[in-house]
Amino acid sequence: MLQGKTALVTGSTSGIGLGIAKALAQQGANLVLNGFGDADGALAEIRALGVKAEYHGADMSKASQIEDMMTFAASKFGRVDVLVNNAGIQHVAKVEDFPPEKWDAIIAINLSSAFHTTRLAIPAMREANWGRIVNIASAHGLVASAQKSAYVAAKHGIVGLTKAVALETATTGVTCNAICPGWVLTPLVQKQIDDRAAREGITVEQANKDLLGEKQPSLQFTTVEQLGGLAVFLCSPAADQVRGVAWAMDGGWTAQ
Ligand code: NAD
Repeated sequence: MLQGKTALVTGSTSGIGLGIAKALAQQGANLVLNGFGDADGALAEIRALGVKAEYHGADMSKASQIEDMMTFAASKFGRVDVLVNNAGIQHVAKVEDFPPEKWDAIIAINLSSAFHTTRLAIPAMREANWGRIVNIASAHGLVASAQKSAYVAAKHGIVGLTKAVALETATTGVTCNAICPGWVLTPLVQKQIDDRAAREGITVEQANKDLLGEKQPSLQFTTVEQLGGLAVFLCSPAADQVRGVAWAMDGGWTAQ
């Protein structure tokens, strides 16, 4: 379905980003990968699916590096057809204890980076009259949790950005939507589980169960493969009129 198209996925050296990159590659898309993890390993996994893949190590907190990455993608593949804004970090602390530099980093990486990639990707998408922008928000783009002020603000912000961009492109073949995962067992969440186990003096297994039981009624993690499937659907012709939605895949978290 995506043969001849190019997808750029930010933060795709691990977790959800790598899962979505694989799902898009399985549909034939060439990939531009990004992130601070094992770039060679991620490139090998994508190339093994028979598509071309390149890597750019831009820091998503730096607008100038994001510009370099978008120029790099265009120089390698002509343009970006599918943009997945996925890079994200987390920090957990009460608002009065929240380090201001962590606030700035979370807003920059989880929100502002998507503004920069989007503004740079849209002109070529408009010219081709086809494009897909998929923003990885979170259940925290729809509801809040305590001790995650920056993350919740950034994720609500990216849902707002999604809607605004969807309206600006509404009469074109470019769509912009957000995916709102619940708990997914990736390095980002594993750290929160490990911290919880250490803090409460419980096993990692118990911390796992408690984490799910608190928020996710299905008591099961959302998987990166399921998220990949949703991203592929949003890139399909069936989703031509899906515009500006924030689509939860959260085991019922936000239905409560
Ligand atoms: P992860 O830690 O496995 O992956 C994050 C990716 O972003 C990595 O490739 C990392 O190297 C990259 N990254 C971090 N800082 C970066 C920076 N400054 N510049 C470039 N790349 C950077 O985490 P994940 O769980 O796969 O998270 C991916 C996205 O999904 C995030 O936006 C996160 O908020 C969101 N999300 C995750 C969950 C979950 O339960 N895991 C739930 C909802 C939303």
